Amino acid sequence: MSDQYAVIGNPIGHTKSPLIHGLFAEETRQDLSYTAVEGPLEPQGAFAETVRAFIANGGKGMNVTAPFKLQAFAMADERSERAELAGAVNAMKFEGGRIIAENFDGIGLVRDIERNLGLPMAGKRVLMLGAGGAARGALLPFLAAGPAEMVIVNRDVEKAKALAATVGGRGALLACAYRDLETMGRFDLVVNATSASLTGGLPPVPPSVFSPEGAAYELAYGKRLTPFLRLARNAGVRTIADGVGMLVEQAAEAFDWWRGVRPETRTVINRLTVPLD
Ligand code: NDP
Repeated sequence: MSDQYAVIGNPIGHTKSPLIHGLFAEETRQDLSYTAVEGPLEPQGAFAETVRAFIANGGKGMNVTAPFKLQAFAMADERSERAELAGAVNAMKFEGGRIIAENFDGIGLVRDIERNLGLPMAGKRVLMLGAGGAARGALLPFLAAGPAEMVIVNRDVEKAKALAATVGGRGALLACAYRDLETMGRFDLVVNATSASLTGGLPPVPPSVFSPEGAAYELAYGKRLTPFLRLARNAGVRTIADGVGMLVEQAAEAFDWWRGVRPETRTVINRLTVPLD
């Protein structure tokens, strides 16, 4: 039997992960099967039972998506530093009866920005909107990329401050409220890690943060020109992108972690890309 992998979430009908991992397996000639599992929302403990049943049936690894990233974190035996900081897990490996947990969302995002879009973050001013799970996962990989300054802003500013405090000393990092952005000048890169775009909303970010020579990155994907990307474009920003590259790059990280072989991502990104306008 092929090695078994899956993505677990709820709802899960929208997932692109089986397609992405299927293309990776084809390209790298790996004998595996990758399915989508709709995880149970209740009763308490049912998610962990579903994962354990998957392991008992020979499962080798799982990706985890909303709303289970915290439950996956809780049930892991071992967690990477990235997963620890994020407080959330998006990939699990099952080995020797243990659940090893990772979070590749942030590293996938950094790879997409730096390699695919050709925008190194070293020495740049970077602004991150949001302090939820995706922002938490991105923080360490972002700081490791060496920006001159990184600012994290959230509606609930205490959440942004708490997040900044957890990584204190790893780089120039400041947490603030949206209203403070009016006086903070332009940023080379503005990343929308809020979930506002999922409902057609826009975080209260002033257009003055955008730099025409800079870039705006929207974590949501497949939604064409979101209000955030439209705001950036109207402010004259030349480089705008959505999160499809991040999605594929985090998948490639997981694939490499599981299989020990790195798939090529460009053709998969091209295949999944929905034009922004
Ligand atoms: P969370 O629910 O963990 O966090 C949501 C964040 O968005 C919070 O900081 C919240 O602020 C903020 N927020 C929500 N609505 C608004 C609004 N109208 N204005 C300002 N801030 C708002 O979500 P995730 O971190 O898991 O996901 C964030 C985004 O990233 C989603 O769009 C998701 O689809 C995308 N994503 C993309 C991935 C990819 O591979 N491309 C992978 C993972 C996520 P507050 O705390 O103040 O409520």
